[in-house]
Amino acid sequence: MSTTRSATEAVAASFRRMDEVKAGADGLNCMLWTDRDWSLAEARAVEERGATGPLAGTPVAVKDNIATLHLPTTCGSRILEGYVSAYEATVITRLREAGAVVVGKTNCDEFAMGSSTEHSAYGPARNPVDPSRVPGGSSGGSAAVVAAGITRIALGSETGGSVRQPAAFCGVVGVKPTYGRVSRYGLVAFASSLDQVGVFGATVDDAALAMEVIAGCDPHDSTSANREVPRYRDSTGQPLKGVVIGRPKEYFPGSLDARMRALCDRALDAMREQGAEVRDVSLPHTDLAIPVYYIIAPAEASSNLARFDGVRYGLRVRGNDGLRGMYDATRSHGFGPEVTRRILLGTYVLSAGYYDAYYKKAQEVRTLIARDFHHVFNSGVDLIFTPTTPTPAFELGAIMEPYEMYLNDIFTATANLAGVPAMSIPIGRVDGLPVGGQFIARHFDEPGMFRAAYALEHALGEEARR
Ligand code: GLN
Repeated sequence: MSTTRSATEAVAASFRRMDEVKAGADGLNCMLWTDRDWSLAEARAVEERGATGPLAGTPVAVKDNIATLHLPTTCGSRILEGYVSAYEATVITRLREAGAVVVGKTNCDEFAMGSSTEHSAYGPARNPVDPSRVPGGSSGGSAAVVAAGITRIALGSETGGSVRQPAAFCGVVGVKPTYGRVSRYGLVAFASSLDQVGVFGATVDDAALAMEVIAGCDPHDSTSANREVPRYRDSTGQPLKGVVIGRPKEYFPGSLDARMRALCDRALDAMREQGAEVRDVSLPHTDLAIPVYYIIAPAEASSNLARFDGVRYGLRVRGNDGLRGMYDATRSHGFGPEVTRRILLGTYVLSAGYYDAYYKKAQEVRTLIARDFHHVFNSGVDLIFTPTTPTPAFELGAIMEPYEMYLNDIFTATANLAGVPAMSIPIGRVDGLPVGGQFIARHFDEPGMFRAAYALEHALGEEARR
């Protein structure tokens, strides 16, 4: 990491890189809001106070649904266009206290709903590895920023895979912590029982460092866990002797692309060579994760997004018919089609006549999915290893059917439903496009997860990028 003295140099280099790769709307469109002079002034302030924190002088990029002072927080939506938060998220305070400098807010699917960043009201972001392809989503802008070499660390948010899936598509590391490990204060709520702030890193070490800084109890978030934060970087350099890795058959269906399977098998072999034992396991309710997720997440979203009413935040459009008309006009103009679809779906499954059939049933099945993980972890398995996604990044515009888009989360939504930590690291390429391998661990076993990720990253070396 850079030293305090070079904070302004590091921040200036980030902005130069943004120009080189065209991070703005005329290029990758991964960066939505920046203010070079303000970021440089922040960097100078870091230097002047002689900051020695773990991230002293490190440029970071932040998904646009995490509240920052000064720069806008629009959640990739028209309804919050130009909105600047009156307070900042706890994760941002922690990053700044560790000496980091925010260099911009990144593009994302509107209110984090999507898997490609094509649902952003500010146009789609593009994958730096192949700009004709999506970077994944919803935190696609943050993944692209790290993949393009603008910053080594970026924040994203996870509700059902939105850090891991874009990390896999862009060939970077993406971590979703245990539910409650990181404060949600200042993360604009999508589905509160699933949401967590996650991190992207150019390497496992970058991600471990960032997670160490942002994790921990926060009086502003009553769901944040009152547990000590281990030093995740201490997990580096440990062999995998005695570690049992489960390979769940449901994540390796017969229909899985043979090349994806081969890359996962190569990764498992590499871990065996490091001393790990690989065991076949089963998580029998896996195929119910998508239907369950797409009931619970929209239900919670429909309630959380009720606050965007033209009165309290951002956009207000006058309608024909007094207050009611203003609500209708503001929300109809302000929300895009995917957000509207989720609100409709969510209010439907929560309505009196359907609550038991959909929402209550989904909560029951969610418990079964969580129990699958408990059973496997209680049987002596330390970690689960799977592909992060069924395919590499697809072309922009290739998936127009909402349900087909939802299937992108098939291997990732389970960890959010169960609240367990999970991460994606690069394990190779298919047709020149990055592919991710996913580790899933027991609640609060981020150290075990990082240990395996460090070991696999080391074992694969340059192979992970080929
Ligand atoms: N792709 C999923 C969705 O559209 C997950 C989003 C997320 O994790 N924020 O809801």
